[in-house]
Amino acid sequence: MQERTIAITGAASGIGRATALLCAERGARLALMDLDQSRLQGVAEEVQSAGGKAATYVVDVREEDAVAHAFASAREDLGTPQGLFASAGVELGGFAHELSADRWRKVLDINLNGAFFASKYMLQGLLDAALPGSIVLCSSPASFVSFAAGANSAYAASKGAVSALTRTLAIDYARRGVRVNAVVPGPTETPLMWMAVPEAERPQLKQVIESEVPLGRMSDPSEPARAVLWLLGDDSSYVTGSHLVCDGGVLAKASISV
Ligand code: NAD
Repeated sequence: MQERTIAITGAASGIGRATALLCAERGARLALMDLDQSRLQGVAEEVQSAGGKAATYVVDVREEDAVAHAFASAREDLGTPQGLFASAGVELGGFAHELSADRWRKVLDINLNGAFFASKYMLQGLLDAALPGSIVLCSSPASFVSFAAGANSAYAASKGAVSALTRTLAIDYARRGVRVNAVVPGPTETPLMWMAVPEAERPQLKQVIESEVPLGRMSDPSEPARAVLWLLGDDSSYVTGSHLVCDGGVLAKASISV
C-alpha cells in the first residue's frame, strides 16, 4: 500500500471514509471521490492531518463523463490508481407494487452503474500503464438473502448485480494482473443504514438488528474497512472473484428460528 494510489468512491462518509483513513495510515495516496463536496473536503483534511496525501474529486458516479474525468485527473495528480474501492451507494426502500420508476432507477444507477463506471476507468488506467491492480466492489447480504423487513427489491437487485459484476470482471482481467473482489458488510452504523427508515423508527430497528445479528451488535465502519484494506493489499494476492463477508454472522444464520 505504501506509495500506491487508491481511489475510493463514496469516500465522504461511512465505510468509504473509514477505508480512506486506514489506507492513509499505511502510506497510500488517496483519490477521494464523492458527490458531497464539504464532507469530502473534511475527509481529505483528516487524511492530511494524519500525515497522508489526498486529492478530492467531486463526482456523481452516475455520470460516466464525470467519472472518466475524475480518474484522468487522479492519474495526473497522484499517479495511476492501483486500488479502487467502489463504496458509493444508496438504499431506498419500497414495496415493488408501489415503487416508482425514478426510485428504482436511482438505486440501480448509483449502486450498479456507478460501480461499473468506476471499474471501467480504473481498468483503463491500469491497462494503459501496464500495472497490476486490485478492485473492491461493495456488495451486501441483500445480494444473497431476503430480509424479513422486506421492501428492499431495488437495493437487493443492485447488489446482486454488483456481485455478478465482481465475478465477471475477476475472470476477464485475471490474466492482466487485476484482481476483483467484493466486500459484504453487515449492518453498519452509517447514514446509509438509516436512509430508508423514518427517524422515529430507528431506535427500535436498531434493537431488532442487535437481537438478530449473531454477534449481537451493528458494526463500526472501520470493521468492513479492514476487510477492504486486506483485499486491496498484497496479503490477498491469490484472491480474486471472491466475496469477503464481514456481517457479524448474518448470512450464516438460518432466517427461521426452528
Ligand atoms: P454512507 O451513506 O455513509 O456513504 C455513502 C457515500 O456515497 C456518501 O458519502 C454519499 O455522498 C456517496 N454517494 C451517494 N450517491 C453518490 C453518487 N451518485 N455519486 C457519488 N457519491 C455518492 O453509506 P455506507 O454505509 O458507508 O455505504 C457504503 C457502501 O456500503 C454502499 O455501497 C452500501 O450499499 C454498502 N453497504 C452498507 C451497509 C450498511 O449497513 N451501512 C451494509 C451493506 C452494504
